[in-house]
Amino acid sequence: MNQADCILSNANVLTMDDAYHAYPRGAMVLRGGAIAAVGDEAELRRDWQATEVVDCGGHVLLPGLVNAHTHVPMTLLRGLADDRRLDVWLLGYMMPVEREFVSPDFCRLGTLLACAEMIRSGVTCFADMYYFEDAVAAATAEAGMRAVCSQTVLKFPTPDAASFEDSLAAARDFIGRWKNHALIVPSVAPHAPYTCTAEILQACAALAVEFDVPLHTHLAETAQEVDDWRAEFGMPVIPWVKKQGVFEAKVLAAHCVHIDDGEINSLQHAGVGIAHNPSSNLKLASGFAPVVSMLQAGLNVGVGTDGAASNNDLDMFEEMRLATFIAKAVSRDPTALPARETLAMATRLGARALHIGDRCGTLEPGKRADLILVDLDGVHSWPPFERDPDAVYSRVVYSAKSTDVTDVMVDGRWLMRHRQLLTIQTEPLLEAAAAYARRIDQFLLAREGSVLSKLIAIGGAEQEESYEVQLKVQVADSEPVLRALKGGSVRVVRTAHYHEYDTYFSFGPKEHERLRHREDEFIDESGNVFNVRYRLTLTGPAKEAEYPNAVLLSRSRFIAPAKNSLRFYREYFKPGSQAEVTKDRLRWLITYKGEEFYVNIDQITRPALPGFYVEIKSRTWSRRDAEQKAGLISELLAALGIQGAAPVSKEYTELAAGGTG
Ligand SMILES: [Zn+2]
Repeated sequence: MNQADCILSNANVLTMDDAYHAYPRGAMVLRGGAIAAVGDEAELRRDWQATEVVDCGGHVLLPGLVNAHTHVPMTLLRGLADDRRLDVWLLGYMMPVEREFVSPDFCRLGTLLACAEMIRSGVTCFADMYYFEDAVAAATAEAGMRAVCSQTVLKFPTPDAASFEDSLAAARDFIGRWKNHALIVPSVAPHAPYTCTAEILQACAALAVEFDVPLHTHLAETAQEVDDWRAEFGMPVIPWVKKQGVFEAKVLAAHCVHIDDGEINSLQHAGVGIAHNPSSNLKLASGFAPVVSMLQAGLNVGVGTDGAASNNDLDMFEEMRLATFIAKAVSRDPTALPARETLAMATRLGARALHIGDRCGTLEPGKRADLILVDLDGVHSWPPFERDPDAVYSRVVYSAKSTDVTDVMVDGRWLMRHRQLLTIQTEPLLEAAAAYARRIDQFLLAREGSVLSKLIAIGGAEQEESYEVQLKVQVADSEPVLRALKGGSVRVVRTAHYHEYDTYFSFGPKEHERLRHREDEFIDESGNVFNVRYRLTLTGPAKEAEYPNAVLLSRSRFIAPAKNSLRFYREYFKPGSQAEVTKDRLRWLITYKGEEFYVNIDQITRPALPGFYVEIKSRTWSRRDAEQKAGLISELLAALGIQGAAPVSKEYTELAAGGTG
């Protein structure tokens, strides 16, 4: 007779091993936090005795579910900004709020809440990717769950690192401290190709290889990402990532929505684990991952919830059901991704995708005791059919709910018994989370009231205080002015030719704040576009002083490179109104009597306005200079041969009210 710590008796055991061994009248023997034996109860009872025998009440005994991709502290951001596009959601809301609020305290609280939610729904193990991963790992270990915890590395500053070098150093330090922990597998997470650089990916891969830990990342989540890669590098995402040496590491890749058969093969060849996130892909309208093809190619495809801000719950039962239903609907084949295989994705294949299939994911002797009990006696799962041995998988995947999970054990320790959490007290956590929500609401309310705060929140804005003296006149013909410019009465420093596509966002009454999105096409001598620049300029109300023939404008402006699409800015800033102006601009930088001036000759093509507009502007002057030198403008006007020019039309003033330059 063998001696054990515990026998789980009277259980309907689904081992989820490769051969799908199942024991409807089964039992399991536990010793030292590991599985010592599993099989028919009558047989096991002949060979084993234990200090404790637990009656499982005929419930289904399963390996604990593996949530293959999530961002656990984001439970605190659940429902913060829904129904937006991925870029607006991520760059406009998540990242600015994270920069302001994410701290070790935030991560600890969010992790404990996520662990409570996941334990309740039968998850015993998850793969996380976030900041302050040390706090995530500590809270996870405290809750008693198993996890691959991945320290994020990005090309821009993060809540826990001022630079990529800092975050890489933090990842190295984190991995060193948690390596060989019983529950935590530390890992490094270059967030995604589009938020990293080739250099970052290479460094992260080297770090993961050095410590033999997983590398966790997001790959090919959206069609845009793949289009961008094709345009910039002439290849899709997967081969490019491979070229950076990333697949030298043990990779866990979330999403892989937009990949072709060749890429599937190369992922399989490299042993990359995949995390399929059906709710997140649906909610953010990212597309449908080729799950069936990936499974057929032999990839380890797990199921993940993604973060609570993009799902919005961490319910793996819902995820399983969506995974199978989507696979059937997309392939128009009801036999695609059967219940049994779906459950394998959420257990065995998930553990393998996380590169920890040696210790969990199935109920087999030698594996750690990570298991759950599911009550299938609820009215929604009734009645039982036993004719087909696979019927039990249908009941678990198609009708059971996460609330049917009654008991959860990780590493031989009960985390939930009879639906009571044993390692986490939720009430104080819920209160603390509500307090964070109030503070985040206040932060966003303050920000939403100011276009400038919103501009700063997405980064890169630089202030420029300017005083400039400017004059605009309308002329029927630009030739005389061009002749004067070329004729030597002024000294030409340089000339340029642009097509300017301006979009003005207005937010309040006229002359109030305006945000201009400008696309500048630089035109060469043969009329071809040789460069394009995108910029945002936020101008406050202009303060003006009148001079004969000229206006002194002083305004503060903020200029930022426009890295995102015009559509992004429209959805993010939500302007009250929008106007578009397109012009062909010849720009001259000249010196006249020792002062530099810009002379712009504009032809407004949209809306089409007759004639040409000549704009003379001083370079940025101090207020004193501006007052003293304003008179030069009238002289310059005469030197350019402009006499009796018509004042600028009202239409033009309206169009240009957002600022010139
Ligand atoms: Zn994610």
